[in-house]
Amino acid sequence: MYEIKVVTHFAAAHQLKNFGGKCEQLHGHNWKVEVTIRGEGLNDEGLLIDFQELRDITNGILEELDHSFLNELPAFKDKNPSSENIAAHIFKELRNRLNDKHIDITKVTAWESDSACASYIL
Ligand SMILES: [Zn+2]
Repeated sequence: MYEIKVVTHFAAAHQLKNFGGKCEQLHGHNWKVEVTIRGEGLNDEGLLIDFQELRDITNGILEELDHSFLNELPAFKDKNPSSENIAAHIFKELRNRLNDKHIDITKVTAWESDSACASYIL
């Protein structure tokens, strides 16, 4: 089984409702996003998927989040834009946009600081 990972970023503001802590205040993060996929078979070029292709698809999703107020986006209308929910949103969008039956998205991790991250795992 092969596994590859790309790392990319976006910046946005959010506000965690009913949190009872500092994060209820409007604030922002520079999120680092790691996308991990795996598969058994390689293509004719010896790749699971071209890194650039995976990065482009991921960045297409992140562009919709970048420099936004996440709470106002349809994806977070009914839930807090926590790092957990952000990771799950990116995971589900990737699954919709990555139409290759030979690969599975196994993990999306959203780092909101150098020392705190949340992952959504297959
Ligand atoms: Zn925050």
